Amino acid sequence: MANKKNELSIYNSLSGEKEIFKPLKEGFVGLYVCGPTVYSYVHLGNCRTFISFDMVYRYLKHLGYTIRYVRNITDAGHLENDAEEGEDKIAKKARLEQLEPMEIVQQYTINFHETLSKFNNLPPSIEPTATGHIIEQIEMVQKIKDNGFAYESNGSVYFDVEKYNKKNYYGELSKRKIEDLISGTRSLDGQNEKKSPLDFALWKNAKPEHIMKWPSPWSVGFPGWHLECSAMSTKYLGEEFDIHGGGMDLKFPHHECEIAQGTASTGKKPVRYWMHANMLTLNGKKMSKSTGNTLLPNELISGDNDVLEKGYNPIVVRFFMMQAHYRSTLDFSSEALNAAEKGFSRLMDGINILKNLKTSDQSSQDVKDIIDSFYDAMNDDFNTPILIANLFDAVKYIQNVNNGTSTISKQDKELLEKEVNAFTFDILGLTEIQNEQNSSLDKVMELVLKMRQKARDEKDWDTADEIRDVLNDARIEVKDSKEGVTWMTK
Ligand code: AMP
Ligand code: ZN
Repeated sequence: MANKKNELSIYNSLSGEKEIFKPLKEGFVGLYVCGPTVYSYVHLGNCRTFISFDMVYRYLKHLGYTIRYVRNITDAGHLENDAEEGEDKIAKKARLEQLEPMEIVQQYTINFHETLSKFNNLPPSIEPTATGHIIEQIEMVQKIKDNGFAYESNGSVYFDVEKYNKKNYYGELSKRKIEDLISGTRSLDGQNEKKSPLDFALWKNAKPEHIMKWPSPWSVGFPGWHLECSAMSTKYLGEEFDIHGGGMDLKFPHHECEIAQGTASTGKKPVRYWMHANMLTLNGKKMSKSTGNTLLPNELISGDNDVLEKGYNPIVVRFFMMQAHYRSTLDFSSEALNAAEKGFSRLMDGINILKNLKTSDQSSQDVKDIIDSFYDAMNDDFNTPILIANLFDAVKYIQNVNNGTSTISKQDKELLEKEVNAFTFDILGLTEIQNEQNSSLDKVMELVLKMRQKARDEKDWDTADEIRDVLNDARIEVKDSKEGVTWMTK
């Protein structure tokens, strides 16, 4: 295979163009993705963004890069309504549930990990928390202040946007003009600590009722929400790093503020390539916790919801998501998921046929062309829908060989199998696990039921009872009827 590494282009939200990807250090990639705020169950919209970046991570890995993938856990500093004032999202949940904030964090972090592993996401290399990096955040505030881009007011420290904007462009990522931003903001009601309504908090003096707080040179308080990502990406990836990702809704103000903080503290633009994943919608509207327009992964998998007609395997859902480009919006509906279910089985059937495909002296199609088409799709800003269309072309060819209307050589069959498997399983992150699990359970159950029958025939009631009890514990129900023995998981 040619050196496909040099041909990857990435749509950079900063330039608004696709750019050839060149890492800062040959062979290595630093990737940072904004993680969840762990105060509630992740919804499928959140999952889509993390699945999109999992695919990016997987493709970069496939190209042979050594990647440090950092994805944070926001466990402090993120205030209600993403605002500058108000209660911390985690502290609020802790108050409502009468738990410690760290119990909330623990509960939803575990749920986050369990959910992403159902979708077969790989874990990041480092998963740092905001509370674990208070010192780094304080140091960064100090640097920004020393460089003259922040000021203290009543024990809080604010970023001076207008001052920063004199030599830099605040709005460069979200393509906003500072004049429009100023005229668009409400008056300074209740925020008169700030010089300008555009200024954002780097450090907040905690009100007495605020429970998550730490000592600092300015007050006992807590970091501003945008700061943690700047502090942790700098710590683990350096002052300048390759790729920063997150959902489109984080472009402004969160990522705009990250650029400003990084530039104000080090004099360097922190990120080379900004990538933004588009939103998952439900009934045409953004899936969002705050509006209640959400579907939780468990509701989708079990079918226990009012939106869809049945439950779906998470891997089918992943396939469904991969059928859309990460920069396009995607709407959830039963029709679309049913179609994805069919498409997914067609792809898996093709892969299974390929395993034992009969070979000939010659191939009737150019297998290298087919494989190039996989790389071309992914090198074009991770175009997974085109990749899947190309995989279906490969499936058509496989079926034609299988029914005798086409041929494939042994060498080409091996090559095609290697690459189809790599793109389907390693890069798109799909699995056959569910089916394999079922078929191995089928086999084990066949044996267990045979042993049960033998025990019964021999009137060995102890063994028969023991088998029944163990199956019961494993939530497997066995039914005896005239037609024979059937079993199902409860
Ligand atoms: P949060 O926990 O709210 O900070 O969100 C975690 C990630 O999910 C962020 O990258 C968001 O941009 C992303 N996100 C939130 N809602 C959606 C949605 N409806 N579709 C896709 N991504 C989303
Ligand atoms: Zn972030």
